[in-house]
Amino acid sequence: MTPEEFRRYGKQVVDWIADYQEKVESYPVQSQVRPGEVLASLPAGPPEEGEGFEAVLADLDRVVMPGITHWQHPSFFAYFPANASGPAILGELLSAGLGVQGMLWATSPACTELETRMLDWLAELLGLPARFRSDGDGGGVIQDSASDAVLIALLAALHRRDGGAAAREGITRRHTLYVSSQTHSSLEKAARVTGIGAANVRVVDVDPDTLAMDPAHLDALITEDIAAGAVPVLACATVGTTSTTAVDPVREIGEVCSRHGVWLHVDAAYAGVAAVCPEFRWVNDGLDGHVDSYATNPHKWLLTNFDCTALWVADRAPLVGALSILPEYLRNRASASGEVIDYRDWQISLGRRFRALKLWAVIRWYGAEGLRAHIRSGVRLAAELASRIGADPGFALLEHHPFGLVCFRPRWEGLPDDEADAATLRVMERLNASGDLYLTHTRVGGRVLLRMAIGAPGTGDAHVEAAWRRIREETAREGRPAGQ
Ligand code: PLP
Repeated sequence: MTPEEFRRYGKQVVDWIADYQEKVESYPVQSQVRPGEVLASLPAGPPEEGEGFEAVLADLDRVVMPGITHWQHPSFFAYFPANASGPAILGELLSAGLGVQGMLWATSPACTELETRMLDWLAELLGLPARFRSDGDGGGVIQDSASDAVLIALLAALHRRDGGAAAREGITRRHTLYVSSQTHSSLEKAARVTGIGAANVRVVDVDPDTLAMDPAHLDALITEDIAAGAVPVLACATVGTTSTTAVDPVREIGEVCSRHGVWLHVDAAYAGVAAVCPEFRWVNDGLDGHVDSYATNPHKWLLTNFDCTALWVADRAPLVGALSILPEYLRNRASASGEVIDYRDWQISLGRRFRALKLWAVIRWYGAEGLRAHIRSGVRLAAELASRIGADPGFALLEHHPFGLVCFRPRWEGLPDDEADAATLRVMERLNASGDLYLTHTRVGGRVLLRMAIGAPGTGDAHVEAAWRRIREETAREGRPAGQ
């Protein structure tokens, strides 16, 4: 493709995206295709001769679009949001256009230095403690996902714990990790990947009401494991759990970890970005204590297209110690000088994309005020919905955490719990199949709850009102909730 052809088709692609943004609301939120339908519309093999880009765009509409679930639809309330925004999309395009590999400072100094500065900017915007900033021993880096971030943290923790023995010799002792029943599954995956093993992931009790980790039980488990000859490595506290946005007591957990020399990783994948608002700075409580690594995802709720997980460490030495390998072909004068960061040493893969460009574009376009307005809008809509649900005798509301997620269920009169849960799931499936909105569910205390996560950039009062109306309609169709 020549630059002239690129200009022509590039304009068409940008127009296509702008049209999509204008009409996203007209699509069913959840894709309605059956398994294999998209596959069946695609030729079995690749073309022998190149085609015009018009053909790709035509097939985008014909083949791909029916198989798209519209995450940017204002009635998308499933999982957690995966915000896209104009500046982030343009930042991605520029990154693709430059096509650089930022594995070493020398392979594109701007790719490294813009990232360093963006992570410092973000630390400032969120009010994170100074020790996470790059001008001391710590620093930040962009990872693909919060799951990668915890794997990286675990590798650094192992390195600090055993001076690199696990990296050299493999896992030869029983190492233990500490999570709660509410911790994201990526912790177990990290245990599998590192060879620590899922059986060595210890599950700390949670408070049955708040679902927050119990630091005293953490202490007891660590003490028991040490007595049994194990080597505790890492505990993960969560600020905003995936299921219900519960918040663990980071400071108390940090005190326990500090006593036992255990690395504390704080996973604030969803909720951490709320700290751009001063009224949400409390989500950082305890980060100024004993916390070794902290991650939050601008790609969830901060208007930045996937992928963009911000990971900060208080001390970068164990991280670089765990991951740095220097083959001859990567040696260069800048790295040898010790004056530069080589982010390849802060991640699993060697190559890396120029993701800081989109974060730069987002922060500059919205400014701190624009980012705050986005968070506040989701929080307000969720709080209003929660108060309506709380006031409706036909529904039970899980104690509302002040972010963008509302968890609730219909109260089915006279049904045993398992039948009531099945009825709740049928309501959800019908709502999702209707294409009017998209919800997911969780289980708390054995009971099914619907999760409504508000935070897509286009979501407004009318969308939440319409969703609540549809939820009550489908609930009424299913049977008779209490009080109705
Ligand atoms: N941690 C928490 C608390 C999450 O809620 C999620 C996803 O929702 C993750 C980790 C995983 O995020 P990612 O997709 O960035 O790996």
